[in-house]
Amino acid sequence: MKKHAFFSLILTLFVSLLVGSCGTDSDTEKQTQKVLLVSFDGFMNQYLDRNPTPNFDRFIESGTRAEYLVPVFPTKTFPNHYSLATGLLVENHGIISNSFPDDSLGARFSYGPPDGSPNDERWWEGEPIWITAENQGKTSATMFWPGSEASIDGVQPTKWKPYDGSVDNYARIDSVMSWLNPSGETDADFATLYFSDVDSRGHSFGPESDEVDESVVQADSLVGYLWDSIEAAGLRNELNVIIVSDHGMAELSDDRVIFLDELIDLGQVEIVDMTPVAMLKPLGETADQIYRALKENEQNYRVYKKEDLPARYGFTNHYRIPEIIMIADVGYTITSRDFYEDRGLIAATHGFDHEAPEMRTIFMANGPAFPAGQTIPPISALDLYEMMAHLLHLEPANNDGKLPEILD
Ligand code: AMP
Ligand code: ZN
Ligand code: ZN
Repeated sequence: MKKHAFFSLILTLFVSLLVGSCGTDSDTEKQTQKVLLVSFDGFMNQYLDRNPTPNFDRFIESGTRAEYLVPVFPTKTFPNHYSLATGLLVENHGIISNSFPDDSLGARFSYGPPDGSPNDERWWEGEPIWITAENQGKTSATMFWPGSEASIDGVQPTKWKPYDGSVDNYARIDSVMSWLNPSGETDADFATLYFSDVDSRGHSFGPESDEVDESVVQADSLVGYLWDSIEAAGLRNELNVIIVSDHGMAELSDDRVIFLDELIDLGQVEIVDMTPVAMLKPLGETADQIYRALKENEQNYRVYKKEDLPARYGFTNHYRIPEIIMIADVGYTITSRDFYEDRGLIAATHGFDHEAPEMRTIFMANGPAFPAGQTIPPISALDLYEMMAHLLHLEPANNDGKLPEILD
């Protein structure tokens, strides 16, 4: 062999080795980046600052935290979890509250038993991340998430569970870890975990209560257990864990009650949802009259015709949104005299304006894609879908979010 031919052979071998090994590295990286999305329902941003939370602290110190997460409107559990999963404004995914009717389906969506509507795919529009993953050859596994029980265009997560609030929280983690385990049968790329206790305590005892603090400390020990399980499974360098919540919590008071039946004739409206956002569908030709009556007495709430709702609410362009939207000021309850006298008030709730400070909630992430010790500016619930699609190397479906700069 001539000398230059020899060198060119060596060069070709060297280059192909280099290119080959780069290809293998990035392929390996592509195959091994996993995402676990965790929700602690109803977790106000400030809960972390006033409680001893060594495990959250450890997670944050070696990961990335946002100043806070801004939910979508209305700040209820189902609309928000589904926006987190799809990156869509509520007007673009159609889950307008936790419970609402759809005349064209002749049914009422309701998350509680017995009617089981969360399983019916006709309610859920858009494409949640677990479906994007499944459609692009990845595997997803959900241990509870609103929407995960329905098939979307016939597709479901590889593993999913019907919601059962009585399943022990530690057992939820054990199941998800077995699904994520590379040597397990599922070897999931994407998984979810959901915990409801902080929200339930907030509703029953108020956001300032000892009972909430106790549940925050319990949540902290779940984070510790999760962290140790990830370590034991050898997944620290492959798994990006994102911890979020869906909204904050605001205290209610008997001094802050709006009686709807003292403002309008309830016989003239269908009540799609009552509080803290009253969604009213006028019956017959009464829309102007009802709107005017509410507008004239606009105290401790704001009332809009849906087409006049400021665009920042993202709550206009869906046929399930009725004509009149009345938003209580934070801490106020909209009710009727009878209902109030019969049932009284719970200690606290959510659902208010998504930009209210009380509705702010948490975002933190830890894993190979997230720099340590960083605090990023406030993030929107809408941005999680793009973020997760990016981490999983998926082509995102149309959505209303943007990739946070930290991963850009
Ligand atoms: P909220 O009424 O908005 O406070 O919603 C919180 C409650 O929603 C939780 O306490 C659970 O009972 C319920 N929940 C959360 N996720 C699901 C789910 N995937 N399916 C059915 N119910 C759920
Ligand atoms: Zn919630
Ligand atoms: Zn709640």
